[in-house]
Amino acid sequence: MGYIEPAPLKDRENPFEAMMSRFQIASQILGLDEEIYNVLKNPTKQVIVSLPITMDDGSIRVFEGYRVIHSNILGPSKGGIRFDPGVHLDEVKALAAWMTWKCAVVDIPYGGAKGGITCNPREMSSGEIERLMRAYTTSMIEIFGPDRDIPAPDMGTGPREMAWLMDSYSRAQGMTVNAVVTGKPLVLGGSLGRTEATGRGVMVSALAAMQKLKINPYTATCAVQGFGNVGSWAARLLIERGVKVVAVSDISGAFYNENGLDIEAAVIYRDQNKGSLEGFPGAEKIPGDSILSLEVDVLVPAATEDVITFSNANDIKAKLIVEGANGPTSSRADKIISDKGIMVVPDILANAGGVTVSYFEWVQNRLGYKWTEERVNRRSDRIMKDAFDKVYKTSINYNVNMRIAAYIVAIDKVAKTYKYRGGF
Ligand code: GLU
Repeated sequence: MGYIEPAPLKDRENPFEAMMSRFQIASQILGLDEEIYNVLKNPTKQVIVSLPITMDDGSIRVFEGYRVIHSNILGPSKGGIRFDPGVHLDEVKALAAWMTWKCAVVDIPYGGAKGGITCNPREMSSGEIERLMRAYTTSMIEIFGPDRDIPAPDMGTGPREMAWLMDSYSRAQGMTVNAVVTGKPLVLGGSLGRTEATGRGVMVSALAAMQKLKINPYTATCAVQGFGNVGSWAARLLIERGVKVVAVSDISGAFYNENGLDIEAAVIYRDQNKGSLEGFPGAEKIPGDSILSLEVDVLVPAATEDVITFSNANDIKAKLIVEGANGPTSSRADKIISDKGIMVVPDILANAGGVTVSYFEWVQNRLGYKWTEERVNRRSDRIMKDAFDKVYKTSINYNVNMRIAAYIVAIDKVAKTYKYRGGF
């Protein structure tokens, strides 16, 4: 699952404040009207539900679930559902806003949302997780809908959970509604290419950035923090393009091999070892944190928020950071990294390949049609490349880093939409 220890308390930032500080900078540069700024800084809707679940031992446990819709001005809101012990309202609010910006950066017709349940799926049985997912879906029956709010997987959830969601929602409607959720198993109307989509987008944006920095992929080295869906696919696809991935990490530590890791072997090992790389024989084990400070060309943080902080940003030696996770860099670390001349392809651009293929899944469900994998990949690669080019151009035009440029592109689209729609 790619779970990484959170940053030490002294370094931790409130994720909503971290998001807001970038939003504020970009809004000022853009000269955003104060009224629109005030609209966008508050989520449209925040729902908190209490979910009593019968556990396997017969006891009843009460879980807290959230769904935050940051904005639905651009279309139905879109965003994943996270199952993690660290889920709390401010995190879900930040992640929901990031979805608004992400969908706007890649120019797909969605607003932003996020959901989550504070729970530890690693310590729950499949039956307990199923009951939790179905109870959550039932509580959100008025919120979700193919034209309202469309969930998807995030940390701790995957196709299995999306299938339960789709089934519970469909039963309540009395008909099969597969477009209510994306990231489903293929047989339920999932899209080819969705599983690897986020990692693929990371690869496409990494290669686009390497071209700008004149880093040759065939001589470049890379370290990937997090070995869940995003990290492992990004690593695999970067290797296919010639990049040497010398280190990956997960909760058990970091695994280093200067000659390049055998990622296929690492994936097989992880899948047979309860999701963990502990004991992986193809590499030397080094402390988990040290992955961030390795002497590599490209660093891909693909685990969780707030791992590159004020305290460790100075140790980073990579020339390029491509953010596979949402919010891996704290706002206080931004300046240190910029000052060091490191290029960052920010989360709302770099990991947008996932929601892009989610959009394709929804389009296919609504058409009642299935695209080939080749078509999915070709179209998502083009969207990612176009978005990268637009953000890069904006960074040159405004003389800002790529993160602020991505926010400028996103906020500009959302603000223009508000201007035309009006109706306050
Ligand atoms: N959870 C993913 C993200 O953060 C995917 C969201 C989606 O596909 O709707 O981008």
